[in-house]
Amino acid sequence: MIDSLLDWYDANARDLPWRKQATTGWGVLVSEIMLQQTPVARVEPIWLAWLNRWPVPSALAAETQGEVVRAWGKLGYPRRALRLHAAAGVIAAEHGDVVPADVDTLLSLPGIGAYTARAVAAFAYGQRCPVVDTNVRRVVARAVHGAGDAGPPSTTRDMNDTEALLPEEPARAARASAALMELGAVVCVARGPRCTDCPVFADCAWQLAGRPAYDGPAKAVQKFAGTDRQVRGLLLDVLRDTNEPAPKTKLDLVWSDAGQRDRCLHSLLVDGLVEQTADGRFALPGEH
Ligand code: SF4
Repeated sequence: MIDSLLDWYDANARDLPWRKQATTGWGVLVSEIMLQQTPVARVEPIWLAWLNRWPVPSALAAETQGEVVRAWGKLGYPRRALRLHAAAGVIAAEHGDVVPADVDTLLSLPGIGAYTARAVAAFAYGQRCPVVDTNVRRVVARAVHGAGDAGPPSTTRDMNDTEALLPEEPARAARASAALMELGAVVCVARGPRCTDCPVFADCAWQLAGRPAYDGPAKAVQKFAGTDRQVRGLLLDVLRDTNEPAPKTKLDLVWSDAGQRDRCLHSLLVDGLVEQTADGRFALPGEH
């Protein structure tokens, strides 16, 4: 199965800027944090702008948190910008401005979890370690276990299942990790997998089992319109567009439901994405 997958990946991998040979560990780390909850097409221009502006961790660490949140633009889930800023500070101060290659050291950085640490070790440094995201879990559930979709996540089981598929040779294993993710992103997609184009069709346990329907627990569907996430984004947009602290009356214009608006503003303050000035106005962190 893995041989066909690797051949397919060699011929079909998308030409993404962070996959280029010259990309540093820092470039890979930034891409992995940005890609966690945002589609490739939206990440690409912001990633290029970030790496151009902040080619090494110390350059990002020297910025204010507010400038980093501003440059995050509309990628969503902006706490990720603060996590990257914090990790950049530690990499600059304690690791010679070079992203560590070792999974345990990566895990010790602020805001770097099991997925990101292994993704950086594999994709930046060619190591053999299981890289498990939603797409990989779905591919493994179908191709290995013959289920229609992945059930609830289980870190240990998911990592063991994925590691069992990886070739022994580290560089080849790292490429297999990238190929599994790519297969889940473009062929073995959640709705309507393109099985006739799939390089592992002949070995896929789900095909061999007659494509049984998924019978696990229902998955939560993430909506956006009307959610606190949308309102938080609108409030941040106001502050991103100005270098002056904004009065509350300006923020009040973005959303009509005062209760939800105030709850969201409060949560942005708690998360450190917004700060209040001594005279009661609001600003991005470190910008007043
Ligand atoms: S054959 Fe279909 S279900 Fe099986 S791995 Fe390929 S795309 Fe996924």
